[in-house]
Amino acid sequence: MQEIILAKYGEMALKGMNKKSFEDVLVKNIKRRIKSLGRFDITRAQSTIYITPEDEYIDTNEVMERLKKVFGIASLCRAGVCEKNFEDIKEKTVEYLDEILSYAKTFKVNAKRADKSFPMKSPEICCEMGGVLLDRYPHLMVDVNNPEVTVTVEIRDTNAYIHAENIKGAGGLPVGTSGHAMLLLSGGIDSPVAGYMMAKRGVHISAIHYVSPPYTSDRARLKVEQLCEKLTGYCGNIAFFCVPFTEIQEAIKNNCPEELFTIIMRRLMMKIALRICEKEKCLALITGESVGQVASQTMSAIACTDAVCSIPVFRPLIGMDKTEIIETARKIDTFETSIQPYEDCCTVFTPRHPKVSPLLADVEAAENNFDFSPLIEKAVNNTELKIFHFED
Ligand code: ATP
Ligand code: MG
Repeated sequence: MQEIILAKYGEMALKGMNKKSFEDVLVKNIKRRIKSLGRFDITRAQSTIYITPEDEYIDTNEVMERLKKVFGIASLCRAGVCEKNFEDIKEKTVEYLDEILSYAKTFKVNAKRADKSFPMKSPEICCEMGGVLLDRYPHLMVDVNNPEVTVTVEIRDTNAYIHAENIKGAGGLPVGTSGHAMLLLSGGIDSPVAGYMMAKRGVHISAIHYVSPPYTSDRARLKVEQLCEKLTGYCGNIAFFCVPFTEIQEAIKNNCPEELFTIIMRRLMMKIALRICEKEKCLALITGESVGQVASQTMSAIACTDAVCSIPVFRPLIGMDKTEIIETARKIDTFETSIQPYEDCCTVFTPRHPKVSPLLADVEAAENNFDFSPLIEKAVNNTELKIFHFED
């Protein structure tokens, strides 16, 4: 019996947005995410995308796993395909939902008749189908308010579909409908989660990472690349920019007061990121900062960082506790990679007593002791680009 997948996107997500372009992007993202699994026919009607496998060998479980990560899908279900006559619908319902109905105690039938030429009206379909199922499964009882299983019969243009289980989708908006931003991606727990959260709001993500060899190892960089790879399941393709940062960090160390190392480093990271954003047409920066977590994440430190930024800096984790961040990191499977113990450039020259409430004037004065612009220029020019594609 043929099985298809229905992906539903809640109308809520469409408020104030151009529905057609929203759908176009969602369909394109779905196609990209599953195309390596075989051929599919993909159509849409009434806030639902119909995904029909066209190759025998297609692994529907894997299709579901991938679609669960596609933002913009509110819920997913597998459905059995029937001919548009009630005899076939009855037969296939019992065949397709046998297991689930054998174990359930209560159920109800829900009918949706998009094709108004179908000879039975929705209440009639519900009533007839309810009777069929009660005869076939005598242990079942009808519960219209809180049923364990809702058997849905949908009569559409070419076929009828039956399904019983709705699985929660990733929610959010399709990646690409909210513009393009640059994620400052370290190897830590926080920044991958920040990227995930902005992608969920429809933002297409590129990532920038600063390395300081020989103080940081190849393994540390590799770990960040692994994080990028993991994020592609949610974010789609990610352009990854790797910036050589050693000379800048050494210049900070040799020319600036130790208590301001971190904040100056953060400002220089931003300046480089802004240059890459300009080239890549990114409209915002994203970081994994959360207020009060470390010395560089106090309000005054954040103000000093933002003072060099001419575009918005999104900090989706700003009000989250570490435990909440870790929960999400586990859910999106970045946690285990993030906790691998490789050094980050931030930890290389960590001051013993970082200034908790730096004043912008002091920071600017300290920076003016040294002309960082040639080093910034060099770092930008030597930045390496690698594209991470979504792969199985
Ligand atoms: P994370 O868990 O994301 O590493 P953190 O708690 O370690 O965050 P910081 O070290 O203060 O906090 O870094 C704050 C933010 O600065 C990070 O979330 C990230 O966005 C950015 N960042 C830090 N180090 C790097 C780096 N080497 N490359 C790119 N971005 C970085
Ligand atoms: Mg970190």
